[in-house]
Amino acid sequence: MDFPSTPLPDRRQSRDAVLAQLRDLKRDDRKWEEGKVFGLVYDAGPEHHALLRDAMALFEAENGLNVLAFPSIGLMSHDLVQLTGRLLGANAHGTSVAGHLTSGGTESLLQSVKVARDVARGRGVVRPNIICATSAHAAFTKAGQLFDVDVIRVPVGEDFRADVSAMEAAITPDTAMVVASAVSYPQGVIDDVTAIGALAADRGILCHVDACMGGFFLPFLTQLGRLDVPFDLSVPGVTSISADLHKYGYASKGVSVLCFSSEELARHQLFVTNDWLGGFYASTTMAGTKPASPIASAWASVMALGTEGLLELTAATDDAATAIKDAVRAHPALRLVGEPVMSVFAIAAENSTALDIFAVAERLAAEGWHVDRQHHPDSLHLTVHAGSVKATPAFIDALNRAIADVGTTRTENRSTTYATGD
Ligand SMILES: *Cc1c(COP(=O)(O)O)cnc(C)c1O
Repeated sequence: MDFPSTPLPDRRQSRDAVLAQLRDLKRDDRKWEEGKVFGLVYDAGPEHHALLRDAMALFEAENGLNVLAFPSIGLMSHDLVQLTGRLLGANAHGTSVAGHLTSGGTESLLQSVKVARDVARGRGVVRPNIICATSAHAAFTKAGQLFDVDVIRVPVGEDFRADVSAMEAAITPDTAMVVASAVSYPQGVIDDVTAIGALAADRGILCHVDACMGGFFLPFLTQLGRLDVPFDLSVPGVTSISADLHKYGYASKGVSVLCFSSEELARHQLFVTNDWLGGFYASTTMAGTKPASPIASAWASVMALGTEGLLELTAATDDAATAIKDAVRAHPALRLVGEPVMSVFAIAAENSTALDIFAVAERLAAEGWHVDRQHHPDSLHLTVHAGSVKATPAFIDALNRAIADVGTTRTENRSTTYATGD
């Protein structure tokens, strides 16, 4: 994008002047507070955001690089890893929880691949590969590029879940890891983690479960009795799992957790060097200097909500998602892609020559609804969160009206941009 630039001012400016400019810069941003943005922001209500803001302000200046200087950051990080691990079966086999906090889902996946590469190198593999389905997050391909690991993508089945036989067939002596998603971002389906874990155990390789999206949702859906599918570290063969606190943990951006099945694997995430005039340097993340505010935000979020709050938010969100999914199933021109198990799903046209779903997206956007677009097949992508609940009846109305208004007209714009650079 082409942004106008504001130069470094010659003179100091007042606090009020700077804050006024910041507010003005936000004028074209999506107004997520109304619940019309299905993605990017996870909203547990204005009181919750006020808490997150205060927690972040308390740790505005501190640096997570050094927990000896700021033990509070070490304590909060430890709590977050422990409680996430317990939620995701990390202690199912009598082991303690081993893992680290990262800056987000992407970094958790990058670290899982780096660990797998280093383990494979340890057994003499020169050019390791990992195997994941086309539905697994784009960050695996990013990891491959960064760490010189070949990423072998195998197809998904008709149900949009990873094709486990294709995974098995793709394994080579240089394979370091297989990947399962719980849930996959594009269609919100859970791969067959039991089969993929068994495959990994059989071949003596690692298995990562990407629960960045589902990690703070599926366990509560299970506790609510609405889901009964094993997907976490308690599944034999699964060696690591990632879960994003900044998604359904309702924390501010910049926090995810990566847990391992053993302390030995977790240690591969640690970087240490003593070859520097600056002294002994150890770090478990990509970043050196590290913001403490997101960690404080995540800690405040889960401590304020507790199991009770997370169960309530999950139930309300799942109800809203179910209402939208039911409306899609009931509409003759629409269909769901695959069988989404939670609040993340894709909506396609039943007949894509009769209805252009991207034209529907444009009509919705004109009314202020933000839904993402995907391809293979052309579809709308929705992430329903607690903040969507209040807007759900209006959204279902808007969707039905948009389809009626669009008729058979099509749009030229076929773009499916998910992430953009700067
Ligand atoms: C969001 C997501 C990621 C990436 O997380 P970021 O926090 O955007 O870096 C990875 N995998 C899945 C399944 C996701 O939903």
